[in-house]
Amino acid sequence: MLTFRTIKSLTQCLSGYRTSGLRIGFVPTMGFLHDGHRALIAESVERCDITVVSIFVNPAQFGPTEDLERYPRALDADHELCRKAGVSMIFLPDASEIYPPGFQTFVEPGPVAGPLCGAVRPGHFRGVATVVTKLFAIVQPDVAFFGQKDFQQCAVIRQMVRDLNLPVEIVTVPTVREPDGLAMSSRNSYLGPTDRKRALCLSRGLLAAQAAFAEGERDSGRLIAIAQSQITAVDQLQYLELRDAQTLEAIHGLVDKPVALCVAAMIGPTRLIDNVLLTPPRTALSDRDLEVVSCAVDRQVNVGGQGSRPS
Ligand code: AMP
Repeated sequence: MLTFRTIKSLTQCLSGYRTSGLRIGFVPTMGFLHDGHRALIAESVERCDITVVSIFVNPAQFGPTEDLERYPRALDADHELCRKAGVSMIFLPDASEIYPPGFQTFVEPGPVAGPLCGAVRPGHFRGVATVVTKLFAIVQPDVAFFGQKDFQQCAVIRQMVRDLNLPVEIVTVPTVREPDGLAMSSRNSYLGPTDRKRALCLSRGLLAAQAAFAEGERDSGRLIAIAQSQITAVDQLQYLELRDAQTLEAIHGLVDKPVALCVAAMIGPTRLIDNVLLTPPRTALSDRDLEVVSCAVDRQVNVGGQGSRPS
């Protein structure tokens, strides 16, 4: 496994592989890797000849009062996880490598970035879209892997790839959960034992709504109420909404197409997000629907007892 800190050294090495016709898979991350990241890497290793993982805490996607400075970092453990998982290359740039002096061009996503996290974190998806575009231009992957855990991020990136004709296939990998249901996240490391317990109500609420949906409940108001009745231990509920799984448009009335039930909440000082997909059986899926739900038709992924940190 090779580690590159500069764009030049990485692209030189990658161009050799590309001309040999090898298929390049790419997993962009912010590090502090866990089994959720490992699932993305495993999917890439299975589908591609070369897997590139980037570890970059992207300042452009953090607001001025957010956790950029204290975002958890564990480079040695990240290297070990990548090595064991079969990663070929790690890209570990400094902020100045990605945003050199004089940098001034940003990618502005459209309405798909407006609601949910886009409303709570102004500028967040502009930062995400910009860095992902740059990383795509640097790595030039055949396929890039993203987690359903960040559902709106997947929607923004798919839209951006379509709109800008970026030559990369996007694969969405289902959310990996702790054995008790909590969606894995680097930010779970902020949670003390009491907050960790309180955080469980998020997945409990989503999974209760999902179970009701599986039993035939189709009323969007009742599905949200079922989730909300469990999500009582949070300090601030930022949103709990049903959205069209493709466009992220709001859903009212009956659910008759694939939708995502998305939540964001503050547990003490920690902001957590989660979601589940609700896909009516026998829905006539369009090609675009299929893109979103192909990997992620809510097979629950649970790594059972492996904990949230790499061994
Ligand atoms: P991050 O390092 O948090 O920016 O995440 C990097 C990638 O890993 C993103 O595509 C995330 O959606 C994905 N990811 C993070 N947590 C999980 C999880 N629990 N299950 C699946 N994918 C995840």
